[in-house]
Amino acid sequence: MLGAPAFTRTTCTRCLSPAATGWRGVALQPKEFLPLRLRQQTKVGSFSRVFTFDLPSPKQVVNLRVGQYIAIRAHLDGQDVVRYYSPISRTTDHGIIQLLVKCEDSGNMSRHLAGLQPGQTVDFAGPLGEANLDPHLYKKMGLIAGGAGVSAILQVRAGATGSKPPTLTQRVGVT
Ligand SMILES: Cc1cc2nc3c(=O)[nH]c(=O)nc-3n(C[C@H](O)[C@H](O)[C@H](O)COP(=O)(O)OP(=O)(O)OC[C@H]3O[C@@H](n4cnc5c(N)ncnc54)[C@H](O)[C@@H]3O)c2cc1C
Repeated sequence: MLGAPAFTRTTCTRCLSPAATGWRGVALQPKEFLPLRLRQQTKVGSFSRVFTFDLPSPKQVVNLRVGQYIAIRAHLDGQDVVRYYSPISRTTDHGIIQLLVKCEDSGNMSRHLAGLQPGQTVDFAGPLGEANLDPHLYKKMGLIAGGAGVSAILQVRAGATGSKPPTLTQRVGVT
């Protein structure tokens, strides 16, 4: 799951155009990085922030299966740094991708993300990972996570409940 795929280096601003992604409704590609613009970042605790990035087109989706993740690349101190994140936006959300990131001053990528201003870009690739969890197969799920692992659990919850709250026969507890 943690193995990094071979990426090609593509960071041209042309790639911000939906036509250039060449993939009708799907914004990202697993083996090619595309720059996405930060729309906003919101503090949600002492250390965590939600980052909302715009997809190239408001009609596009990221199309992750539940359990998959994306890669982010930034050029820091003269070298490419790649880190992996589990988006908390729903896989069917149009036009945006949202990340919940635990930001530490001593963390290279998280410090970089925390310093981004709206309109600045970071390179994204995905979906990555072989997981394909269908939360609708289960009537009850108990999800336990700590630290940055909470993001992956929120992704499962979003996949299970969609835009609606859990039904009586489908209870999802997040602790
Ligand atoms: C599949 C997957 C999904 C993930 N999803 C998320 C997610 O949704 N949200 C999330 O927040 N994270 C997630 N992570 C973790 C994320 O990929 C990063 O590892 C995390 O953000 C830290 O990266 P960083 O570059 O900020 O920190 P790094 O620079 O990698 O540092 C990591 C730690 O090492 C310490 N450190 C760094 N340099 C030194 C040094 N020279 N000496 C001593 N200590 C040092 C830092 O203090 C920090 O605590 C995920 C990881 C995986 C594999």
